[in-house]
Amino acid sequence: MAAELINGRELSNSLRERMTEEIAELKKRDVSPQLTVVLVGDNPASRSYVRGKEKACNSVGMDSNLIELSESTSQEKLLELILELNNDPDVHGILVQLPLPDHINEDVVIETITPEKDVDGFHPINIGRMMAEKDTFLPCTPFGILTMLKEKNITIEGKHAVVLGRSRIVGKPVGQLLLNENATVTYCHSRTHNLKEVTQQADILIVAVGKQEYITGDFVKEGATVIDVGINRKEDGSLTGDVDFESAKERASYITPVPRGVGPMTITMLLQNTIKAARQLNEISQRS
Ligand code: NDP
Repeated sequence: MAAELINGRELSNSLRERMTEEIAELKKRDVSPQLTVVLVGDNPASRSYVRGKEKACNSVGMDSNLIELSESTSQEKLLELILELNNDPDVHGILVQLPLPDHINEDVVIETITPEKDVDGFHPINIGRMMAEKDTFLPCTPFGILTMLKEKNITIEGKHAVVLGRSRIVGKPVGQLLLNENATVTYCHSRTHNLKEVTQQADILIVAVGKQEYITGDFVKEGATVIDVGINRKEDGSLTGDVDFESAKERASYITPVPRGVGPMTITMLLQNTIKAARQLNEISQRS
């Protein structure tokens, strides 16, 4: 059996078409969703992610603003800037590109962004709201994964979802979202014993370990859905995931490729969160 591909790029494109219309409608009502991205330093990977986000904004007619600060920018200066952005009515989403230089405390920075503009969904208030199953900004990669599963009509309720990885931005929240959808969730991490025995029980296997092609077909239950979050650059410059696609696709019933899988969905969910922020902030300003 060869698995059906879940093509994140195609799905993103169709979601972005809907967003383009939504933004055009909002602009007619004088609401112009705007994402401000703050880049500190000159990390080439961060720069390329930021470029991707700007391009995505342009693709749907969303305003974007990139603020570039030098590597030596003090934490105090960065926090001052965030407070200004929090109070700027033209800014709807604020994203500080991570990682930050070592002298800046990421947690303090994230907690300074007002939760109403935290379109990355990393603020503890938004994480808490997600856990409490309240309306919130969901973190973009987990949100993208959930959207893919739903758009493909893959049953989540009652299924055994195994999440490989427990980072704050991917593993933990994606497991929480699947739990909220009534899956039975197991988390695995670097201290998990008998990893293969656990992953072989997964109806839905989410892989976010950051290790190139680590999960081979023998880790996959026949008929499972495999979501590969990993992005690794091979020696020849091409991208590959945390799953060995060729062997896994022979056992899975659905699988995401890398590239064109979770990556484009992550950015698309960022756009969706920014539109949501713009709508909500507009409603608040009209009430006051
Ligand atoms: P982290 O490095 O923060 O977390 C990796 C997780 O994998 C940790 O929980 C770690 O366990 C676990 N792990 C590491 N080695 C093993 C092992 N041998 N067996 C079992 N578990 C293991 O990574 P991220 O969550 O930030 O990212 C994961 C991958 O996803 C990366 O390739 C990254 O590039 C990619 N990514 C892709 C995105 C997208 O948009 N497609 C967005 C974000 C990330 P422990 O906690 O015990 O250390």
